[in-house]
Amino acid sequence: MNNKKELTLSIIKPDAIERNLSEKIKSIFLKNKLSILETKKLHISKDEASEFYKIHQSKPFYDQLCNYLSSGPIEVLILEGENAVLKNRELMGATDPKNAKEGTIRKLYGISIDKNSVHGSDSVENAKIEINFFFKK
Ligand code: ADP
Ligand code: MG
Repeated sequence: MNNKKELTLSIIKPDAIERNLSEKIKSIFLKNKLSILETKKLHISKDEASEFYKIHQSKPFYDQLCNYLSSGPIEVLILEGENAVLKNRELMGATDPKNAKEGTIRKLYGISIDKNSVHGSDSVENAKIEINFFFKK
């Protein structure tokens, strides 16, 4: 059998880095059969955040979102596994931690809809774009 592996991008956002949750979040990925292929800690500029989140540029929360992602250190991860995109989205939980299911990262650690601890690519196509954004050599 040929199991199809996917790659996806995860970001551990400033609120989670600030609370030293990186190892706890990574252990959730590993326990759920997502391997961490690469990881990098960085602090992006507002311009870089605006480029990364440009699909949201028409949204009322765009400016706030870009300010937030550039407000402190983040950690970006390339995750690999079967159905990695969907699996990561399931492990993350709903965008608003109030609506996230028990046991999900956002339910466990999210503070609010903006400080929701993690980002995850929403499709295989966007995962490629997002991985390239952070890890292009
Ligand atoms: P997700 O991160 O679950 O894929 P979206 O792609 O819809 O969610 O939004 C990107 C990020 O923008 C969210 O993670 C969240 O931090 C922020 N966001 C989404 N909706 C709102 C909102 N109504 N108010 C403030 N921030 C928001
Ligand atoms: Mg999204």
